[in-house]
Amino acid sequence: MDEVSLIMIQLKNVSKFYYSKGIIASGITKVNLELGVGEFVVITGESGSGKSTLLNVISGLDTYEEGEMYVEGRETSHFSTAEFETYRKKYIGNIFQEFNLVNSYTVYQNIELILWINGVPDTEVKRRVPEIIDKVGLTEYSRTKVSKLSGGQKQRVSIARALAKDTSIIVADEPTGNLDSESAEEVIKLLSEIAKDKLVVVVTHNFDQFEKYATRVVRMNDGRVIEDKEVVHVPDAGELAESESGRITVGNKLRLGVRNTFNIIPKFLLLLIVFLFVTISVTSIYTNFKESENASSEFGFNQFFTNYSDDRMVVKHRDNHKFTDEEIKKIEAFENVRVVAKDDILIDKSAYIEDDLLSFYGYIYPADALVGKLNAGEMPKGDNDAVIRTGREDGILMGEPEEVIGTTSDLMSEDGESSLAKVNITGIQFYEGEEFSEESKIYVSEGALKNLRADAYAQASTIKIKSGKKTVKVGQDYEATYRLIPTKKAPKGKVYVPAEFNENYKNEKAKDQKIKITADNMYFDSSKELKIKDVTASKTYNKTIGIGEFEEHSQDIFINPADFRSIFDKGVYQISVFATNNHEVAEVTNQLRDMDMKVIPLKDAISPILDAGTDILSLVQVPLLVILVVVIFFIAYFVTRLILKSRDSYFSIARMLGMSQKDIKRILDIEIILVVTIAFGLFFLFTRLVAFDVLQIEYVKYLIEYMEAKDYIILYLVLVVMAYMISGRAARKLFTTSAMQAYRGEA
Ligand code: ADP
Ligand code: MG
Repeated sequence: MDEVSLIMIQLKNVSKFYYSKGIIASGITKVNLELGVGEFVVITGESGSGKSTLLNVISGLDTYEEGEMYVEGRETSHFSTAEFETYRKKYIGNIFQEFNLVNSYTVYQNIELILWINGVPDTEVKRRVPEIIDKVGLTEYSRTKVSKLSGGQKQRVSIARALAKDTSIIVADEPTGNLDSESAEEVIKLLSEIAKDKLVVVVTHNFDQFEKYATRVVRMNDGRVIEDKEVVHVPDAGELAESESGRITVGNKLRLGVRNTFNIIPKFLLLLIVFLFVTISVTSIYTNFKESENASSEFGFNQFFTNYSDDRMVVKHRDNHKFTDEEIKKIEAFENVRVVAKDDILIDKSAYIEDDLLSFYGYIYPADALVGKLNAGEMPKGDNDAVIRTGREDGILMGEPEEVIGTTSDLMSEDGESSLAKVNITGIQFYEGEEFSEESKIYVSEGALKNLRADAYAQASTIKIKSGKKTVKVGQDYEATYRLIPTKKAPKGKVYVPAEFNENYKNEKAKDQKIKITADNMYFDSSKELKIKDVTASKTYNKTIGIGEFEEHSQDIFINPADFRSIFDKGVYQISVFATNNHEVAEVTNQLRDMDMKVIPLKDAISPILDAGTDILSLVQVPLLVILVVVIFFIAYFVTRLILKSRDSYFSIARMLGMSQKDIKRILDIEIILVVTIAFGLFFLFTRLVAFDVLQIEYVKYLIEYMEAKDYIILYLVLVVMAYMISGRAARKLFTTSAMQAYRGEA
């Protein structure tokens, strides 16, 4: 090899132009230079003379348009961006005027960071960091945060960091620009020492400071080198090792994530508050959702509440046992209770009347719930009396109100299959508005209520009939093979059964045989033994039963209403308590819970659209929840962004030091997920304290009853996913500034 190849950097007629808005400005023009290891090169000149441009070309930050730059004899004019990246990583150590240190890290941590980024093994990191710190004379500040250091000390840290990479070229643009003369002197001395086994290139407009130490002076004017003087001849130090460069390890990313979480305490606390807010919001949405789901299963009979009075509470015993009269009296006596509806099961139920004079559909209420004046007729008195409350529109009354009053009608179950009760219409009350709405009601007397109540419980029960050897399931709806229909045509203690029941008995005759009906629902089991009066047959149907056509009823079992009631009307298991007004609901709820009852305040049920059925429940409620979660997500995201603003400089420094965008994102992920985990942990601890009554917060206790171990896991996963997405969005914003911009200080 000839001597030329030992020259580290050689520029031959290198020119660089800047193009901006159609104007070409020349950065440097036809520069010729040869720089070698051991030199301390000082580039000086007026402002705008091209010093920085020259330095950026040497350090591979800027490309050039003319001429050729050789690095250890290799041409660089054809280098791609990636090749220049590699060149910088292998050869160049940067020292900045602005230091570009992580202020919240200690001196030690700043040096450690660059070694980690370059994938230096841990044992070597531990050995090298103190060595390097010692070299720049900062050993006693090793554990001091950079933010506490003086300018000169900071610049020494940044020199130490450049040394840590162990590259053969160190470049510095105005390294003393921010320092007082004393600190500047220290730093320059240090650089000149480093130059003993490296090539150090420094740009300054203040040559006097450097004069004593420079081995070569390059003076510039208007983009040209006007003087290139070797002050001290440096013997060639020979070839130089390229710096090793690996990638940051997973373990070190984790350590940086954890370090970043806690290194600025106020920032940590703010993030923690944001994620506590997210945790609590998501939990309360989740529990409210579960609660309303439970409302339809646990309070079984009201699958969907239709009466959404905001003063209504649905109440049962925790262990589902019956209410005693004393208990109901006690509740009625509560100061803030307006009324107790024993027939809660009926409040959400509707029935209809369809005959010559009337076409009515409405909710069933006990007569004593009637308020206000009647428009016609009188209040119900007798056992079967009823008052209808309906809209004034046409289509309900076929005649004048006076004609309807005094007539007897069949109050039909919703499915139209059975007459729940015969009611005698004694009065009519009109409301303004549509013919049928939530206001449409029928107020019935206690006698009629009994049948209605039994019917409601029957609908909520699993009913089986054991006939001879065979047991069949009986339903109240259209899908059921067999239905159980109460009618007075069946004598007490006796039933009519379908003809096919004959086959269940030895002599193929069901008549006069025994039959057992059992019912089972969430509140009670009950059973009754009855005798078969006869099987139904088309010839005799009209005379014996006479409800509709035989063809539609050939599979039905007909039972006397009194028997039906004795199976299904077992007492009061679920009541509705109405508070004097909605502000008292919380108070009454607490009183009831103290009596060991389960309470659902209807005003807290999440969506008033529940009455439309399960399909609507999932169609409307789920998107509603999704929207809420998305809103919370964005609130959390924007606040997180604001808080992470302080991270911007950290990330541009990390990129400058050669960390990849992906690795930076991972470190941010770790930080945010760690904060979420801490927030969730605190929240979980809080729920345990409430659950074990260390903290007494009734509402929270009530809500967390819906949380099982599984739910906590789901919740945590949801939060982690949210955190991950927040981190992803935040990172994307952070990277809108390119590393290059950051490098040049344009960020
Ligand atoms: P110095 O560092 O000596 O002050 P520079 O190298 O920054 O000088 O600038 C040399 C010349 O190049 C100046 O005329 C300057 O206006 C021009 N220049 C530098 N950077 C840019 C740029 N990004 N776009 C356009 N012109 C530039
Ligand atoms: Mg400059």
